[in-house]
Amino acid sequence: MIDKYGRKINYLRISVTDRCNFRCRYCMPEEGVRALKHEDILSFEEILQFVKAVAPLGIERVRVTGGEPLVRKGIVEFINALSKINGIKDISMTTNGSLFKEMSKELKKAGLKRVNFSLDTLKAEKFSYITRRGKLGDVLEGIKEALNLGFNPVKINTVVAKGFNDDEIDDFAKLTIEYPLVIRFIELMPLGEGGWAKGRFISAQEIKSKIKSDLIKVENIEGSGPAEYFKLKNAKGFIGFITPISRHFCEKCNRIRLTADGKLKPCLASSKELDVKEVLRNNADMEQIQKAFGEALSIKPYSHNMKYDESTDYEETKRRMWQIGG
Ligand code: SAM
Ligand code: SF4
Repeated sequence: MIDKYGRKINYLRISVTDRCNFRCRYCMPEEGVRALKHEDILSFEEILQFVKAVAPLGIERVRVTGGEPLVRKGIVEFINALSKINGIKDISMTTNGSLFKEMSKELKKAGLKRVNFSLDTLKAEKFSYITRRGKLGDVLEGIKEALNLGFNPVKINTVVAKGFNDDEIDDFAKLTIEYPLVIRFIELMPLGEGGWAKGRFISAQEIKSKIKSDLIKVENIEGSGPAEYFKLKNAKGFIGFITPISRHFCEKCNRIRLTADGKLKPCLASSKELDVKEVLRNNADMEQIQKAFGEALSIKPYSHNMKYDESTDYEETKRRMWQIGG
């Protein structure tokens, strides 16, 4: 489906849960969140019904995210059912990686093709600090397993925060020499909880300048999304920069999001939403679901205006990343 600004929308991000076993400081508050009630969350059957309706409209790629998608019971069977939907060519997942190793083979068998791991530091103590719960070893094992099993590509999302991990940028970059990983540095967005992010923004330009070796520009890599990609000399992997703040990629945006509580969100940073749960729970037929999808696309803004302004809190969306799915 083409939106009114001529963008082809073929990518759906599904947040399957608002729950998470981590409490990353830029994302969730320490005390956790009042989790949505079971009945307020879309069932897997409802999500599948939705995807079956929108696949004929041109949705070909689906990313499963959260909260932490691997904490939701039945996730493997869900991926399996998704992979059988006509028209869905690509299923990927964004995960904190803590539970990945034990589920990896089943996920692969179910049809998961690509995985993005979120990892902000390579130091165990800092990892416990930033996630408030996690163990670095579990995530590293998950990443190794993903490489061994042939998931391709295996990407690492690294949110960079001043004074926290900006001293590790070069270490992350060097990982691409030995491993065929795609390391993507992401600008910290002012969507988090409790003000931890205040004063910690670093632009991609500055992140780049901390990589000591030459960056060789590469054009498209598979499933590249909105990042700009580079390579180090003789490296097996790639390095990407995602710049939601310093350089919008809105004009190329091809995505729409479905939240765990059944809202269609045409833009990550906008509070505009459309309630598709209501539609699904009113015995909607395919046409009604497609109509709701079309309405959501019609309110997709041309661009967001998210900026890093330390003097004000960013208020355009009241949802946080764990509620949207990144
Ligand atoms: N729990 C999974 C994970 O961490 O990969 C999936 C959901 S998480 C909300 C998706 C992505 O959003 C993660 O890569 C995380 O680092 C990123 N994220 C969360 N809060 C952010 C923020 N304030 N700025 C930039 N990225 C953020
Ligand atoms: Fe959980 Fe992912 Fe948010 Fe961290 S970034 S608290 S792992 S949802």
